[in-house]
Parts: sequence; structure tokens; C-alpha cells
Amino acid sequence: MNIPTQNIELFRALLNGSKRVAILSHTNPDGDALGSSLALAEVLRTKGHTVNCIVPNRYPYYLKWIPDLEQTLVHSLDEEHRCEQIIAEAELIICADMSALSRLEGLSAVIAANTSAKRVLIDHHLSPEEGFDVMFSFPEASSTAFVVYNLLEALYGKEVFTQKIATQLYVGMITDTGNFAFSALTPELFRAVATLCETGIDIPTIYNNVYNSFTEGRARLFGYVINRKMKTLNKGTVAYMSLTEEEMRRFWFQQGDNEGFVNYPLTIKKMRMSAMFTEQHGFIRVSLRSRGEVDVNTFARRYFNGGGHKNAAGGKSFTSMDETIRHYIASVEEYHAEGLV
Ligand code: 5GP
Ligand code: MN
Repeated sequence: MNIPTQNIELFRALLNGSKRVAILSHTNPDGDALGSSLALAEVLRTKGHTVNCIVPNRYPYYLKWIPDLEQTLVHSLDEEHRCEQIIAEAELIICADMSALSRLEGLSAVIAANTSAKRVLIDHHLSPEEGFDVMFSFPEASSTAFVVYNLLEALYGKEVFTQKIATQLYVGMITDTGNFAFSALTPELFRAVATLCETGIDIPTIYNNVYNSFTEGRARLFGYVINRKMKTLNKGTVAYMSLTEEEMRRFWFQQGDNEGFVNYPLTIKKMRMSAMFTEQHGFIRVSLRSRGEVDVNTFARRYFNGGGHKNAAGGKSFTSMDETIRHYIASVEEYHAEGLV
């Protein structure tokens, strides 16, 4: 990863001038959002900064074991005032694993109100927005954790990676690559993994903590969604599934229980694109995945006010489930007519 020296030195200068640092990551925080934020926070604390990690809403229960995660503040969970105070007092605001402030939901206005703090972006999503003092935007990187790895190495050298930091970064790397199965897997990434490995991280335990730590309700919900809710279009090459709040209650749903469901239709050989619609308070969360040249980032931007990566993107719908599904079917038809799926 080629990080311009000038940006590293700019970041170093911003750090030197800032004691209070706030690290923010996106709504529905995932392993990459949390792992990359926590690793960065840990290193900056050892360098004398006062660092707080803040996320807009609750993280999935099966990631609770990540070292230091309990110190992360969740804005929507009775911590509103404290989060807002930390952001208001921060001298440096680092946004990790997101390309637009809008992905901070209610927190974006709080950030906008702090006009004196410097802002740094560390991310791997396409089309990052303007307005940052320094940007580390690498859409070709497989995870933000990998960007943070390179950045920390450039700033402080490999000695900075302790076993704890390596565990946090490794979680980000595996969760965004499907345990090293998706695209953007480079020799450089595996060299980084080798360095993390040298700290003595326990890879099988991390794997089990991330992938084999769900509830029984989640397993039964998964069976239900695939068996009863998965529908296909375009001769079985496009899939979609939906989940209503009533169905979630029936399976004792906890935040994060539907994580990864959207990938499953792509285990079918001829499947090219998959969507999952999940009812949330006041809107429907749209998750999209695709294979190869099918670009769901463009699809999400065009039809669901969203974005993300070429093969993994998301957005929102503010209509009913039925209307959302009708809109999806019509959008797939249009996309298909243009030869895009
Ligand atoms: P997921 O389906 O796992 O929620 O999200 C997949 C990818 O799409 C992630 O990289 C995520 O950051 C991005 N994404 C999800 N929802 C949105 C959204 O509403 N807006 C944008 N710009 N990106 C999103
Ligand atoms: Mn990510």
C-alpha cells in the first residue's frame, strides 16, 4: 500500500498537536469498524493521547469479546450526552471505515458542530466525501484494518503491534474478507497477517469467536430465511430475502443475528446478486452482495440511497416491505436491461 509520505507527516503533525482524540465509526458497526478503531485507539493511547471510540448504535453480541470493546461508547445506548461531550471537546476526530459522515446518523450533526477539531479519514469504501484535513482512502484495500495496519507501521514501525492490537486488526481483516475468501487479497495483505501472527495471536480461537458464537435462535432464523423467504429472479441468478420485525421477534432476534445471511444465496453457483431487506425502526435496511462484474455499489447508489463496495453494498428504503421488494424487482429489471446483471 502506497501511503504518500506527505499524508503520514501531516497526520503525525495533527497528532502532535492534539491530546484529545475521538475515533468514530459507522452505524451497525462490524468487525472491521470495531477492530480498526480499537487498534488505532490502543496505539494512540500508548503515545499519550486521550482516546475514545464512539459508534452510533449497538454492535453485534458475538463481537463483544474483542479486547477493549467494552470501552467503546454507543451513542444510542444512554450515552448520548457523554458521546456528544467527547466529540465537542475533541481536538482530532478520526473517522474509520466509512466514506461519508451521513453514516454516523445522529452523530453527524454533532461533528458538524465541532468546527475547530481537525478531521482525518481512514477508509476503504469507494467515493469518499470531501472535508477532511487528511485522507487515507484506499478503496482497493480489503479492509480498513489493513489500512490501519499500514498506517501504524508507517508512523511507528512494526514494534507497535502487540498481541492485543494484532487480534483487533485480525478481526477486521477476516470479517471484511470472509476469512480471506473475497477479492482484494494481495501478497502484501498476507505479509501483514504474518506480522500479526508473529505476535502470537490465537487464530483458531479468533475464528471461533467470530464465526461460531451465535445463539440457537440465529441458527433457526437462518434456516427459516433461506427455506421460506429466499426468492429468485432472472432464471435463478438474482435473489432476495426479507425479514420483518414480527419474524425477528419470533426467533428472539438480537442485533447482528442476520449478519452474513445475504451472502448465502451466492453459494449457489449461478447466482450473481443477492439482497436482504431487514425491517428496522422506521426504515428498511438494504444489504446487497454480488459476484464478479456485477456492481452493487452503483446499484445501491442508484436505487437505495446507499453505497459501499463493488461486491458488497447497502442502503435504506423508507417505504413498506412490499413496496421495497417491488422497487427492487423493478430496479433489477432495469439493471438487467442495461446488461449490468
Ligand atoms: P452491510 O450489508 O454489511 O450492512 O454493508 C455492506 C457494505 O455496504 C459495507 O461496506 C457498508 O459500509 C456499506 N453500506 C451499508 N449500508 C450503507 C448505506 O446506507 N450507505 C452507504 N454509503 N454505504 C452502506
Ligand atoms: Mn470495512
